[in-house]
Amino acid sequence: MDQKTRDDLLKLFQGKLNEAMKFYLETCTRCGVCTEACHVYASMRQIKYIAAYRHEIVRRIYKKYFKRRGRIWPSLGQARELSEMALEELYEAAYSCTGCRRCMVYCPFGIDTQMIMSIAKLLLIGAHTEPEILTLLADTSIEKGKSLELFKEGFLTGIKNLEEEVVKKWKIEAGETAIPVDVDGADLLYVALAGAHSIVPAAAIFNAAGENWTLSFFEAVNFGAFVGDPTKTKLILDRIVNEAKRLKVKEVCICECGTAFRVMKQLSGKQPFEVSSITEVHARYLREGRIKVDKLKLKEPITYHDPCQIARNGGIIDEPRYILNRLSDNFREMSPEPEYNWCCGGGGGLVALGEDNLDFRMKSAKVKADQVQETGAKILTTACENCHTQLSNLNSHYELGVEVKFLSSMVADALMQ
Ligand code: SF4
Ligand code: SF4
Repeated sequence: MDQKTRDDLLKLFQGKLNEAMKFYLETCTRCGVCTEACHVYASMRQIKYIAAYRHEIVRRIYKKYFKRRGRIWPSLGQARELSEMALEELYEAAYSCTGCRRCMVYCPFGIDTQMIMSIAKLLLIGAHTEPEILTLLADTSIEKGKSLELFKEGFLTGIKNLEEEVVKKWKIEAGETAIPVDVDGADLLYVALAGAHSIVPAAAIFNAAGENWTLSFFEAVNFGAFVGDPTKTKLILDRIVNEAKRLKVKEVCICECGTAFRVMKQLSGKQPFEVSSITEVHARYLREGRIKVDKLKLKEPITYHDPCQIARNGGIIDEPRYILNRLSDNFREMSPEPEYNWCCGGGGGLVALGEDNLDFRMKSAKVKADQVQETGAKILTTACENCHTQLSNLNSHYELGVEVKFLSSMVADALMQ
């Protein structure tokens, strides 16, 4: 690695060194409590997958360039040069970590592996060695934000087709306009993912609840966050923030996408609207009697996978349980409880990397597969697209014999007129 590249990368590193990050980099006592907390280590038993080992790869570079002792006497404390080989290790550490933060809830100091891995991801971007596909997808989202007029017509045609699906299945709930778009003064802006599964059932529920809502032109997913690029994350987020302000909505409701929810909730700053997850909104409709569901429709045992970014990192734990207990008498909790729930193994951009890392995703989430199987459930539901894809893959790979469903679809299918 030439000196200029190294200097540029170290500037990126320095930009990440706020007080919290320094605390994380300087506090680990190597107590080992986090060892069994990581689903990757628990499933694969390789030292490189221990949370504290991942930290150490970043920490050694920190010691070498940002701590006096490491600069003067690198062998002490194992300070490490930033080199091509170090970048390879950073890649392995960052892209085998889903950012689930399960290790953080076990660590006595609350050391945040996801934060430390954000340094690794930023250095990889600076060295142009990040997964290209994630950057490409982030750039496509940003481009869409810049040229809304170009894709507007195609989007509206697609929505007309989806409206027919809503009307066909939920004739009464569909209302006059089954999927309203660009409604100035709507109360709620719904930000969906691309695809009927994220829009059609949601539309049926909003209409059944008599919500004054409008669908966003933009998809919720934030590939900037997956690749760890703060600038791109913000640009993708701003498209939705600006749309919400333009339409003067009171609430932005994020679809079943854990990362999109967490980014909007925690990074959008103070705004003239509330941010909610679709699970919170559905629980609210049920509590207020705005929608009714038929409990008799679901007879088979159901379990729920808490998406890490929605439950452990987003605090949405009671709402899905409230919904499930309204949908069924046969809801079974996984063990351990939600805060300590095993990650599905697909977060942090890993699912978006597709088939390339399918083998790793399956091996590293064996503990998740076991956790599902132990419930004896026949229906496995969740409220995140990434988790849904990963759980479906696990279902096939480990022959779990469950039906994997989105929670929102289950609510829509149980709607009573
Ligand atoms: S639990 Fe915390 S302090 Fe202990 S080894 Fe892991 S990261 Fe370090
Ligand atoms: S954040 Fe999750 S995947 Fe990453 S090291 Fe911690 S437990 Fe493992």
